[in-house]
Amino acid sequence: MKKTLSVVLFVILLSGLLLPAFAEDASADIDYTTGTPWLCSFLDGTVTADTKAPDLSEDFYLACNIEGLRNLQIPEGYSYYGPQDEPAVQLDEDIMKLFTSETEAGSHDAQLALNLYSLYMDWDSRNAVGTAPLKKLTDEVERIDSLEALTEYLGNTPVEDQLFSLFKVETVPGLDDSSVNVLDIQPSDLALEDSAEYQNLSSLGKVKKDAAEALVSRILGKLGYTEEEAAAKFGNCLSFEAQLASVMISESDKRKPDYYQKINNHYTRQQLTEAQGNVPLLSFLEKAEGYPETDSNILEEPDWLAKLNCLYTEENLGLIRDYLIVHGVIDNADSLDRECFEWKIVYDNAIKGIVGDRSDELVISTLMTEKLKWPVARLYCERYLNQNDKDRISVLIDEVISEYHGIIEEADFLTDETKAAAISKLETIDKQVLWPDDWSKYDSRDLEIASSADGGTLWEAVKSIVRYDTDQSVRRFSEPVDKDWWYFVPNTFNCGYDPQSNSIWIFGAFARGDIYNAEMNDEDLYARLGMVIGHEISHAFDSTGAQFDQDGNMKQWWTDEDWAAFSERNEKLNEYFKKIHPWEGQDLAENKTGEACADMSGMKCMLRMAAKKDGFDYDRFFRSFADFWMEKGTLTITYIYCDDEHPLPYLRVNCTLQQFDQFLDFYGIKEGDKMYLAPEDRVNIW
Ligand SMILES: [Zn+2]
Repeated sequence: MKKTLSVVLFVILLSGLLLPAFAEDASADIDYTTGTPWLCSFLDGTVTADTKAPDLSEDFYLACNIEGLRNLQIPEGYSYYGPQDEPAVQLDEDIMKLFTSETEAGSHDAQLALNLYSLYMDWDSRNAVGTAPLKKLTDEVERIDSLEALTEYLGNTPVEDQLFSLFKVETVPGLDDSSVNVLDIQPSDLALEDSAEYQNLSSLGKVKKDAAEALVSRILGKLGYTEEEAAAKFGNCLSFEAQLASVMISESDKRKPDYYQKINNHYTRQQLTEAQGNVPLLSFLEKAEGYPETDSNILEEPDWLAKLNCLYTEENLGLIRDYLIVHGVIDNADSLDRECFEWKIVYDNAIKGIVGDRSDELVISTLMTEKLKWPVARLYCERYLNQNDKDRISVLIDEVISEYHGIIEEADFLTDETKAAAISKLETIDKQVLWPDDWSKYDSRDLEIASSADGGTLWEAVKSIVRYDTDQSVRRFSEPVDKDWWYFVPNTFNCGYDPQSNSIWIFGAFARGDIYNAEMNDEDLYARLGMVIGHEISHAFDSTGAQFDQDGNMKQWWTDEDWAAFSERNEKLNEYFKKIHPWEGQDLAENKTGEACADMSGMKCMLRMAAKKDGFDYDRFFRSFADFWMEKGTLTITYIYCDDEHPLPYLRVNCTLQQFDQFLDFYGIKEGDKMYLAPEDRVNIW
């Protein structure tokens, strides 16, 4: 399983770009201002100079933010924006400065980063090398003329020398026993990313398809293929993918609470030998990548492997070759010459919805962050983060955890037995704050990158990184699970809870600016970072997190009766969201139980903490919370939100607040007001 965090934000923001801004045609038949019970004020265009300011008893979010929303512009290159996204933009600028100002090559890590950056920016060398290294690899694939030769190529060529692969493998802790590492085997990439796109092409899928086809056609043209040949190769790739996709798990199914159960398929080496048939999966693992022979395998999607086995025939050789070539081209485009680099930017802009230009420095900083994760992370942390913040945030997390004791104790739907287990889980929650305590685990001392001045090339450097990353994964597989291991770098603009290590993660790049700063008063601190921490802790006890015990193992620790009561509460929460419509006729997907539950629990926790503070300014606190979520987005992003686990920003505020007497009483909100929710209709799980 790709390590995922139950993130607090809708997406992990990367390099100043948020999500695609495409398919912007609003339908003339839809009146987007007909939301129930509230106007969908997130959608750009619904709040105008003519919009009447509501009373805060009607729509608290809009009442607080109407001026801001009227004035807020979604900047060029973004598809949604608000004040909370500012630290993400700052992050891009900070990372860029790491390479463009005086970073001293004091450590091996710093030297690696500077060397790689010099290679990315050395256009003379890159242009001189041109597409030759890619051509060598595509030619090798073109020469594969039998199934036997394909098997030899996929199974016996070192992974860094392969153009692309049919498999993805990584070392992760097991779901049943998180103290033991397993080899996690997944399908390789699809050009349209989501298997559902091959059944029903969405607007986003169409954008991805067109962008990939254009990029592949241009680069293949440069490698000597005709336009017709390039088009045929792209078509073959999609047709191969469509057959695999027909049995693969869709992205929306990956976001459902039963996803972990679905992918938890243990395979011994013998079982894998049988399942793979002719497909050289095991030799890829053992020879191309270098993993030891093992019985600890998780095959996430057995149907995919069975399908691949059916398709792995002499007859389909051309399709498989073209799959490898198309993906090899997309994957390597940004390590080639100027022309290919620019074409790749056009591709990225299209699929990510970036409409403005980005400087080379910004694009290359992003690539640096992706390729050389830890050296870049360390430079970032050393320059921008400080120990005082780390200490203060750690204390805040402890306060939040201690408040959850009371929340669990008072949960009247639970028996004492389950409460005791929940408390025990709560007490063992580990916290990872801003950056890892032990940097030595993340130094890249065995990686070497020759600088441009020393005759290195970008292509060779990227290849060395692939080998190095694979070796690291192989090494970790043979070692005990390190529960403190950071799967994400500190310069990630997000936070999360990981059920397998039972730990919460507050990443360094997130706790900055208006989200957290050392000068904040308690009201703002609780409304922002405090809420986020409360939210993350709640993920330990939401519909997904509750399936894992205190040791991070997927195991039932609830009594049957309590689990039934918990499920009933989740169902009530689902029913509540069914009554909410961003506009007439538009529903929300039934997957909000984890994230909405986390927001509500976070608020409950903050209100308990606030009650202990003399003179706490509730008005400031509630408004600060509403202000934090002030964001507006395009129609497409609004549609994406409707499907996402996270409620739309205006709902994250209004739905959360209306669960609490402290809020309703403070503003004198009463029956008949739109912000009012009767006690028996409330849906906070905790
Ligand atoms: Zn979350």
